[in-house]
Amino acid sequence: KDAKAPSLLFGLNDQQQAAVNSTSPVTAVIAGPGTGKTKTLIARIAHLIQEEKVPASRITAVTFTNKAAQEMRQRLDVHFQGRRAAKNVTIGTFHSVCLELLGDVNILGDADALTLAHQVLQECGLKLSARKFLSLVSQRKNGVCTEHSPLTDSAYEAYEEKLAQYQVLDYDDILLCALALLRQGKETRTSFTHLLVDEFQDTNPLQFQLINAFSQQSKSLFVIGDPDQSIYGFRGAGAQCFERLAQERPDLETIYLSENYRSTPQILSCALPVIANNHEGVSPHLTAQRPAGAKVSFVRAGDEFQEALFIAKEINRMVGGIDMLDSQSLAGGKREFSRPMAFCDIAVLYRTHRQAQLLEKCLSIEGIPYVLTGREDFLCEPLIRGSVGFFRFLMNSGDLLSLYACLTEVMGLSQKQAEEVTDKFKKTGSFPQQTPPPAGMEKFLSLYEKFSQKANREKPQKLLEAWAQDTGLAEDPSLEKLINISVFYKELAPFLRALALGGEGDVHRSAARRYFSDAVSLATLHGAKGLEFPVVFLCGVKRGVLPFQLPDRESDLSEERRLFYVGMTRAQEELILLSPGTPSLFLDELPAQELSFEQAREWKEPSSGKQLSLF
Ligand code: ATP
Ligand code: MG
Repeated sequence: KDAKAPSLLFGLNDQQQAAVNSTSPVTAVIAGPGTGKTKTLIARIAHLIQEEKVPASRITAVTFTNKAAQEMRQRLDVHFQGRRAAKNVTIGTFHSVCLELLGDVNILGDADALTLAHQVLQECGLKLSARKFLSLVSQRKNGVCTEHSPLTDSAYEAYEEKLAQYQVLDYDDILLCALALLRQGKETRTSFTHLLVDEFQDTNPLQFQLINAFSQQSKSLFVIGDPDQSIYGFRGAGAQCFERLAQERPDLETIYLSENYRSTPQILSCALPVIANNHEGVSPHLTAQRPAGAKVSFVRAGDEFQEALFIAKEINRMVGGIDMLDSQSLAGGKREFSRPMAFCDIAVLYRTHRQAQLLEKCLSIEGIPYVLTGREDFLCEPLIRGSVGFFRFLMNSGDLLSLYACLTEVMGLSQKQAEEVTDKFKKTGSFPQQTPPPAGMEKFLSLYEKFSQKANREKPQKLLEAWAQDTGLAEDPSLEKLINISVFYKELAPFLRALALGGEGDVHRSAARRYFSDAVSLATLHGAKGLEFPVVFLCGVKRGVLPFQLPDRESDLSEERRLFYVGMTRAQEELILLSPGTPSLFLDELPAQELSFEQAREWKEPSSGKQLSLF
């Protein structure tokens, strides 16, 4: 036997080992947070390669975020001690795995989708917001039925025609096309025998069909998940996929794990009673393996600004970078910490993207490096669409929608002029020779030539910085943010792909134009799924935000509770819940004796003073 074999299962408990070794064609691992599901999945990949001698290229693992995919890849590399034995394993989100299957296609990003939606709505005279329209289209493509949908057939078809005209696929089409390809049984670019799916509880019906289609051609299907962490119900996903799998695959073997290795008993005793309310008061079976730690804190703050400031001051106190007295007098923090922390040990989580703004501001003021993961709305701004469009067209001259966006949004061509140029280019592959050329066209051509030469040679950050100079957009704050995203990428193509899928997944943005290896993580509860941090600040645990309340829709209380549960169970050692305003009704579900209460120090706006002047 391989000399490395013992290390593979080393430290795994019996149930985890059973999951790694399962020889059943379909295996499901159902277990709560922090029970080592993901760890087990990774060990199983290593086991397949090392023991079962499955070629790495025959293995595909699907996870829900790019960040999770990255981490999985890293952990495998560590396991194989950098020997890259797992290099050819395909690891990614449903979208990235399907894209790989499809080969070269044009993706309709979030921003472009909104533009097309606007056009369609205008043409059809439909009174809907573009976002609402797109979400109805998506529901339809995903086979989610909504009664009395205001989406008309003609508007839907008009949208589809536009996609065909520009030869682009929207996010759902990526999955639908991959499904069609698999069902035809055609030879695909990647064919694999082993499929592993993390966070299975969040697969929607379309993704379920994909898994099914994949598993028709494969030898082994391995899914892991936790019904209590299903948080994509609004997209038609749900824990019923476990039941459906059991029905469709009678050969299913199910394994349960119940030991929690992530969180202190204190954190679990707060999280479990909350989720019990989804099960008529019965908690899931989960026993803490970690030693006792600090009590969970509940901090009340006057408003969101004071909440954000408290967090920033506390982080500095934990990392030990600031005068203790000063921070105490400002923020009021008096909790004791078990050990000094690094910035990267700390996460700040929130329910909605909007909440990040004040946090970013306060962290910057306190000089705290951070990375933010999430959907970036600024990518929809015209100048950014046009700038990104320029580079997308540069890399792929079939992407006419991007050419059009660049000409209209950055180069200042009228819609009609831009259409003429794109039409000509589509038909002949060259740009029209007009005399005199429309203003802006000359500029475009010279930039096109200049950047064509260096697109493949220089890093995205360098390219964007040059672009900002050449177009006179250097002062634009959105372009600055775009540059802060680019620092995570070495090459243009993966950067552009991440941006294109950004509306669907998670783009990473640095606080500045540099990459910090030690930084606080900012993420939404959805974006934090599957991750863990020694310290978690969970903000905005207040009425209207968590559970989230839209004015026109009843919130799904059980799903919001699962989100809160996901958030709390990210913490390993310290969990700080914050409420700026009327506390959330979920706080009533916490056992009061397990909490330590605190009030964030009132921050009275001084008329002068160095802190305020920074604003
Ligand atoms: P989630 O539902 O949040 O995704 P999970 O079940 O996937 O959680 P993991 O992230 O795999 O849990 O593991 C949680 C933590 O517990 C990790 O730090 C992991 O290394 C640790 N862990 C898992 N199993 C063991 C074990 N048998 N012994 C020691 N530590 C373990
Ligand atoms: Mg996991």
